[in-house]
Parts: sequence; structure tokens; C-alpha cells
Amino acid sequence: MITTRFAPSPTGYLHIGGLRTALYSYLWAKKNNGLFKLRIEDTDTARNNDEAMKAIIEAFDWVGMSYDGDVEYQSKRLDIYTKYINQLLDEGKAYKCYMSRDELDALREEQMANKQTPRYDGRYRDFTGTIPEGVDPVIRIKAPQEGRITFEDGVKSSMDFAATEVDDFVIARSNGMPTYNFVVAIDDALMEMTDVIRGDDHLTNTPKQIVIYNALGFNIPKFYHVPMINNPSGKKLSKRDGAMDVMDYKRKGYLAEALLNFLVRLGWSNGDQEIFSMDEMLELFDPNTINKSASAYNEDKLLWLNSHYIKNVSNDRLSKELEFFDCILEGHDKKEMILDLCKERAQTLVELKASIDNLLDTPLDYDKKGSKKFVKENTIEMLENYMKLLEENKDTLHLACDYEAITKPFIAEFELKFPQLFQPIRIALTGGTQAPSVYDILAVLGLEESIKRFKQAISVNFNKEA
Ligand code: GLU
Repeated sequence: MITTRFAPSPTGYLHIGGLRTALYSYLWAKKNNGLFKLRIEDTDTARNNDEAMKAIIEAFDWVGMSYDGDVEYQSKRLDIYTKYINQLLDEGKAYKCYMSRDELDALREEQMANKQTPRYDGRYRDFTGTIPEGVDPVIRIKAPQEGRITFEDGVKSSMDFAATEVDDFVIARSNGMPTYNFVVAIDDALMEMTDVIRGDDHLTNTPKQIVIYNALGFNIPKFYHVPMINNPSGKKLSKRDGAMDVMDYKRKGYLAEALLNFLVRLGWSNGDQEIFSMDEMLELFDPNTINKSASAYNEDKLLWLNSHYIKNVSNDRLSKELEFFDCILEGHDKKEMILDLCKERAQTLVELKASIDNLLDTPLDYDKKGSKKFVKENTIEMLENYMKLLEENKDTLHLACDYEAITKPFIAEFELKFPQLFQPIRIALTGGTQAPSVYDILAVLGLEESIKRFKQAISVNFNKEA
């Protein structure tokens, strides 16, 4: 059975790079009817924060990625780590190192002066002398001193490190707290991970973790190190480019499926397919075909995907999502018409709300440039005739096509050009010239509200200066 995990450190918000690795791990497990686990790596108590922890769970709920079993917290597993540290000490595979801070610093300086990579020199590895007083020891693992550490990475292919690149690194600090690479290896082994998908910033940690697996006789999972997401100019993605909190995407009006679709394509592809439903992602995603090079964040693409999903999800779903933006359409008798009309042009839910408000709120102002251009001497008379026509046909007017059916002969009879009639109607009904088709607006507002707005615009002469 395939088991994967997402293992964030709750030191900041969950950013989209993290969500992407979580998605890849989720897809790979679920595609194989396996398990996807969530583990919070919160041993760095000085840097953890509860808000970040909550934000991670909240983001998972929002995007609808469910994890199996309970969330594991490393902070609650300290006994387990201690047990394995003691086991390694007992078996002579780890040892106490009494080197002081000053000695370590002096060693590092000497190595740097000799142009060597700083590494612990193993001086307490087989120490038999007198133990120095006043130093709380750290615990170091006995890393192999020769040979190679190799593994087959699902993205990067064969990885091969000289054993000498890994020194006897610290697995427990002098206060007894286990270190990062140690706990990750213990947890991945005990949680029975078969596949570890993570950012390639962790690539150099992997040989160290393999040393731990080997020391304890644990099975080594398959690793997939995913290249970074860069900004469009190939630099590290910054907040300004979009490296923001996943929940900011919700606040900016993105649908979760658009964000997931965007993320699956940032680093993986299936021919030239751009749109992936969750079912398609589950069917097609394979971490062995993740791109080898970094991907570029492209906000236009995300907007494009978002407008696709806004157009294609159900109106019920849209009206539910809009509640987050205090736009309540539930119970509105024209809900379907309003959404059908407004969703065509919206790239985000924020834009969708703005265009709904623009339609439903009686305009207080009329676009000056538009009024100047389109409201002429005979416009008021034309609108009065048009209102008369609407009143005369009021029983037949329900849908956009009903308005169209009576308007076309009116235009012909008075020998009007379309903008001559339509732009003043748009301005009177919505305040501007950009709104959608006038027939749709009339149908959504209904006869009574439309007449009210015509009269209002006429009473102030479209706010035109005399
Ligand atoms: N906690 C690590 C991070 O947030 C991830 C560790 C891993 O995936 O192995 O970067």
C-alpha cells in the first residue's frame, strides 16, 4: 500500500509551494487507494505558532484535501524519539560528544582557513579518555566513514553522495531535544511511509536521513524531490509574486479547484492538457513524471483557470462561495439569471460580487463621459417612449428574449442605431456603459425596478451639467 504524508513546520503560513507538495502526495496516495497523512513538525518550539498550525488545517479544509487518521504532532512524540536515541546509544551506533561551543567554533575556523568544508571531526566517536566536566553532551550518530550513500529519486534519478559528505551529525541536543533529520526519519519509518514527496530544498537532508534508517534497520521510502516554483523571471518566488498564504487565495476570490488545477500543472504535465478535474488528476498524476526543472508562477494562468471554474461550477456552488464575500443571493428569485449573467465576465469571486452589486444596487451616479456622449436632446423622449412600450407589454416580459422581441421593432420604427438606445439604458440602469446586454439587465431587474431607475436617471437628467 502506498502511504504518503505532508509534513509542514508551523513556523509561518502555508504557502502555495507547500500546498503543491501536499497535493502531489495526496494524489499519489489516493490514486493508489493508499493513505495520506498529515504530520505537524512542531519540535522547534521557539519558532512554532498556533496561528500557523490552525491556518494549515484551515487551508486543507478549504481545498478539500482530507488526510487519513489523526494529525500527528511531533511535539507529542518525544518519548518515541528518546527511546530510539537510547537504543542507538546502547547499540554503540551513537555516542555522546562533549565538545564545547568554543572547540566547535575553533574547529570550523581552522577548516575554513584550510578551505575545507566544515564538518565534525569525530573526536568523541571512539573516545576512551576522561570526560570533560561542565559540558552537557550532545548525541551524535556514527555515520559511515567510507563508501557511498545512494538512492533512486523519482524526480532527480540516481543520487549518489560520498559517505564522507555526511559527518557524525547531532541527533539530540544537549537539552535532550532530538534534531530535525532524526525525527523526520523516525516518523517516516514508524508511520510506514512508502513515498516521500517534498521540495528539493530537502535533497541534502536525505543522505542524513538514510544514515538513520540504516542505523535502525528501517525500510527506506522512495523519495521524490520536487523542483522549486520560481517567479516569471526565474527568481525565487516572493510574497509579491504570489508566495502568499493559501487562505489569501480564498480571500482574493479564487475557487479551490482552480488553485489545485494551477498547482498540479506547476511542475507536472500531461501533454498539453490544462484543465484537470480532481478525478482526472487522480487518474493521470504520477510523481515519476514530475518536471526536472523549476516551474514559473504565472498569475494570468491562475486567473484564466479561475474564470473557467467560475463559469463551470453550479450556480448553487457560486452563491455559497459568494456568502464569504457578504454577497447573499440565496432566496433571491432571480439568482440563476443574475449568476448566469455575471459569471461570464468574472475572473475572481471578488469581481463576480462587484458585478452583481453593480447590477443590483440602484446607481447613485451616472458615468459622466458616457452621459455626455450618449444622452442627447431627444434621449429623454426616446426613453419615455420606451418606458411606455414596456408598460404596454408588461404581461409578456419575463426573459431577456421577451425584451428583445419588443425592442427590435421599436428600434426599427424610430430608425435608431443600437448604441443610441442601449447606452442610455445601460447608464440609467447601472450607472455605466460597461454592463452586459441590456436585455439581460432588464430581465434581471424586472419591469418595475427598471422603470424606477429610468425615472430616477431622467429626473436628474443623468447628472449632466446643463
Ligand atoms: N517540515 C519540513 C518543511 O516544512 C518538511 C519535511 C519533509 O517533507 O521531509 O519544510
